[in-house]
Amino acid sequence: MPDTSKVTPPADGAPITRDGDRLVVPDNPIVPFIEGDGTGPDIWRASVRVFDAAVAKAFDGARRVAWLEILAGEKAKAKTDEWLPEASIDAVRTYKVAIKGPLTTPVGGGIRSLNVTLRQILDLYACIRPVRYFDGTPAPVRHPERMNVVIFRENTEDVYAGIEWAQGTDEARKVIEFLEREMGRTIRPDSGIGIKPISITGSKRLVRMALRYAQANSRKALTLVHKGNIMKFTEGAFRDWGYEVATEEFRDAVVTEAETWDGASADGKILVNDRIADSVFQQVLTRTADYDMFATPNLNGDYLSDACAAQVGGLGMAPGANIGDEIGFFEATHGTAPKYADKDVINPSSVILSGTMMFRHLGWGDAADRIETAVERTIQQKKVTYDLARQMDGATKLRTSEYADAIISNM
Ligand code: NAP
Repeated sequence: MPDTSKVTPPADGAPITRDGDRLVVPDNPIVPFIEGDGTGPDIWRASVRVFDAAVAKAFDGARRVAWLEILAGEKAKAKTDEWLPEASIDAVRTYKVAIKGPLTTPVGGGIRSLNVTLRQILDLYACIRPVRYFDGTPAPVRHPERMNVVIFRENTEDVYAGIEWAQGTDEARKVIEFLEREMGRTIRPDSGIGIKPISITGSKRLVRMALRYAQANSRKALTLVHKGNIMKFTEGAFRDWGYEVATEEFRDAVVTEAETWDGASADGKILVNDRIADSVFQQVLTRTADYDMFATPNLNGDYLSDACAAQVGGLGMAPGANIGDEIGFFEATHGTAPKYADKDVINPSSVILSGTMMFRHLGWGDAADRIETAVERTIQQKKVTYDLARQMDGATKLRTSEYADAIISNM
């Protein structure tokens, strides 16, 4: 058992355990949370009330979450002099499911990004972003309701592997000379260098997780997104390995687009196709309803997730999760929005809807459904925070805390 001595688990909770691939969730699971920096505390205070109300209503008081605060970010730095204490990481490993608000990216001080660090040390290899429209949300397109996709973005490699050297350093010079000498490739001497690794392991496990999700959630199609026409051995290979997983490991459940051209039926099967990244960005606008799930390498997924979220009403609404084989970490997709800190005005929906993903992950779908229905009802009533109010006619602008009250009363 890891040392969680610096965090005291709640006496009225029990740990989530694993039985092979399956999570075993008690009626009072201990769930660690990181409140987050900047607007994080306002968001968390509102979100936790919504979570507790939904669970109480969904299960008539028979279940409840035993929340366990763990420290990261500015609060951790102030209390422990560390940005990401080992005890917090151990607690997430121990309890297997956690949720967090946004964290500041420390400037200087040797830490690249707390979010990226957490994903790497906990091997949270898939970033999952469901994007759907909540009726009534102001959106920049005419038919936002046509968007209902789940994006699986590879989280550990690609240009995010962090292998890069600044222009003018010895390391950059060595790499440039090596490429010239050993590979016969010329690079301008005044270049910075970044390396883009994409592996069989990273690609296949991501696509495997996406297809399992497709099966469990009765999704209809999975599109592999890549820039393989230009980057054949990284992005193109991601596509090829994706098809390999689909046709070798999920043969009875899938049909590829090419097989349908040869007459195979897609009835009752998950259609697997692929699209080049630039075309996907126009397709999600022009043929929105044709797309159901995406699996993408890291950088493309980063762009595509935010573009899709913007199409249905923006980042304040978009939930996300980082998932590995052992751990599920649910999180806000926006930053800390520090200028609104402690003003009780920020939109908490991103964390609230990440909580619905968490409840589904725990098998507590009834609580998730209640929250989603109540959020939608609240927005339809035009009871919204400032960010949505400024785009709507006749809206009632609510504080963060009042918005949580409105959601709870709509449950
Ligand atoms: P940001 O915090 O996301 O905020 C940028 C703007 O987006 C805000 O000023 C606000 O726009 C809008 N916004 C963000 N969250 C919102 C919400 N919940 N409700 C309504 N509007 C929201 O981005 P940033 O200013 O670039 O980053 C600030 C810090 O957050 C940095 O340290 C960054 O590294 C970190 N960050 C953390 C995460 C994470 O923890 N996952 C993600 C991204 C960034 P208006 O001013 O127009 O109202």
